[in-house]
Amino acid sequence: MLFILERLSKACANEISTPCFRHRCYAVATALRVAIVGTGPAGFYTASQLLKRLGSSVHIDLIDRLPTPFGLVRSGVAPDHQDTKNVTHQYTSIARDERCSFFGNVTLGRDVSLRELRDMYNAVVLAYGAESDRKLGIPGEEAGNVFSAREFVWWYNGHPDAAHLPVDLKNVQSVAVCGIGNVALDCARVLLKGAERLKKTDLASHALQSLQQAAGTIEEVHLVARRGPVQAACAPKELKELVSDPLLTVHAPHPQMAISPSDEVVLKTTRTKKRIFEIISKAAAITATGIAGTQTLINAVPSSSAPVVTTLLADKAGPETIISRSSVSIEKHEDQGSSSGSSEQAVKKGSGTATASLHFQFYRNPVEIVVDPLTGKAAGLKVERTELRHDERQQGREGEMAVVAVGTGVMDIIPAQLILVSIGYKSLSIGGLPFDPRSGTVPHAAGRVIQTADSSSSGGTAAIRSDGGDGKGLDKSQQAVISSKTPNPSNSRNGLLEEDHGSEYERGLYVCGWLKRGATGIIGTNLIDAEETVKSIVQDWKAGLLPELLITSVKDSVPASSSDVPCNVSSPLVPLEALLESRGVKVVDFEGWSRIDAVEVERGVAEMRVRSKLVDLDTMIGIAVDNNSGYNTVYQ
Ligand SMILES: Cc1cc2nc3c(=O)[nH]c(=O)nc-3n(C[C@H](O)[C@H](O)[C@H](O)COP(=O)(O)OP(=O)(O)OC[C@H]3O[C@@H](n4cnc5c(N)ncnc54)[C@H](O)[C@@H]3O)c2cc1C
Repeated sequence: MLFILERLSKACANEISTPCFRHRCYAVATALRVAIVGTGPAGFYTASQLLKRLGSSVHIDLIDRLPTPFGLVRSGVAPDHQDTKNVTHQYTSIARDERCSFFGNVTLGRDVSLRELRDMYNAVVLAYGAESDRKLGIPGEEAGNVFSAREFVWWYNGHPDAAHLPVDLKNVQSVAVCGIGNVALDCARVLLKGAERLKKTDLASHALQSLQQAAGTIEEVHLVARRGPVQAACAPKELKELVSDPLLTVHAPHPQMAISPSDEVVLKTTRTKKRIFEIISKAAAITATGIAGTQTLINAVPSSSAPVVTTLLADKAGPETIISRSSVSIEKHEDQGSSSGSSEQAVKKGSGTATASLHFQFYRNPVEIVVDPLTGKAAGLKVERTELRHDERQQGREGEMAVVAVGTGVMDIIPAQLILVSIGYKSLSIGGLPFDPRSGTVPHAAGRVIQTADSSSSGGTAAIRSDGGDGKGLDKSQQAVISSKTPNPSNSRNGLLEEDHGSEYERGLYVCGWLKRGATGIIGTNLIDAEETVKSIVQDWKAGLLPELLITSVKDSVPASSSDVPCNVSSPLVPLEALLESRGVKVVDFEGWSRIDAVEVERGVAEMRVRSKLVDLDTMIGIAVDNNSGYNTVYQ
């Protein structure tokens, strides 16, 4: 109850003095009520844009499933990129604005349904990111020490969901990372830097311990890509940072740096691509033949895979090859005065002694994870060499011709005791929400959610799910405490707005961030994205197209099973708080998060680190909600 009073005071502070139970009804009725689900960059930029554009006419509830805000800025951005995390100061000011309230430890689809939120707010903005992965879909993907990059990143960044991920670094000499995007580079860099160079960061304590135990054992990391260096999806800055590590040798064998004539055109016209190609070329000893780091694994290879071993190290680029391999990369290499002999050579950079090696494995499509039958863990990655063909049906990312990788039938095995799959994040769908399972995003026009056949028929509550089917619903009796009504029926059909070209929007429902545009873009991209979504909200609000809210008693919303939960059923309480309290949800407000933050920083000081993250949800909630200070004895 104290929690509710605190929120009421905050919500009313701008307009009326406390106590403000009765006045809250007035405040709620006049200010636009917006719920933002997800407090990563997209959620915070949406909030900041709403505050900027609507002044005192808006109240925003920021909802997150974790007791900690900031999304991937906390659980994605690498621990050695502390400066990037400074953006959280800006987010903190937004959360502390008196027009905002933070609801941590509240999961959409578990603690509250989408239907309920839509009934409680004039506008609901979904910004819950992308918390699933694209899979390789190959045999062995479920083996031990095979993880998605998302899981691995969460693990080293102390995300509570991955705190107990069974990462075993002790016996890992070689790592294969499938994919060459920025996330893949982050994973490689963290592994190659090791404990000594990360110990002062906010790397999760369990990850630091694991890296300490594995010190000196990780000898090589392979970055495996189905296509070539010109198609690598990373940013030059991140690539440069990785390959410039003085303790690293970089390998990129000549056949794998080969490019087609159309690639050459891309290099001439696209600065970023050219830069990426140059960075790899400069960093590596480009060899005329040979496959870096590829060995036979006779003992570990199951009998079904045995024939492929005989093909190892055989470069069979035959007459059927579509791409004519250019000598551009060799010439560049020779220009720089390095040799390009027949055996693989690597450049040792700077005066440091190289302790590990990085191998670019282009034109290699993972086809199977080789599993050690004794341990059930990864032992190697079987890859098929590929060639590129133009895909006339598609346009490439930056306007160039799209190319697809086509298998040649020639197989190699890359030894790897840890395999990370970094081929893309995917959002989860939620019951009643239009969702495109192919792209893993919500269909929208300028942030307005577009209705689909599925969503129109699904009005009830449902849990977030990844299969696109019906989720597990909450009890109907737990539904809205505020009812919505259509303000202008002539503009709508079935509560939906009709767009000029015939699409129908979900009234009052918006999307932003990775859930809206897919898992691409940096933190700043979400600001541009939020500007677009907020523009749509403001337009709809001014046009009277958002649902109006009628405050009713919470009586009907209290589930029978929760009748013993203390709840004032006759007062017009703030609906979301009342609903969550009736369900026994321990909501973490921003002061609660600040207590967690203070403990983490304090632990960090003691350990001579930036911060020492808490990863156990019960501990965090204990500190945030119950003000439990007993963590000292248990966790320090
Ligand atoms: C590994 C990695 C490293 C990156 N490094 C950088 C970098 O160095 N610099 C840079 O500029 N960009 C970086 N990015 C990109 C940047 O993090 C993203 O652009 C940005 O985080 C996307 O914002 P978002 O708000 O859409 O999603 P997120 O940041 O993922 O936020 C989503 C939020 O929704 C919450 N949520 C999820 N499900 C629910 C639910 N059911 N109910 C309630 N809440 C829910 C989550 O807890 C989370 O807080 C990185 C991305 C990754 C994956």
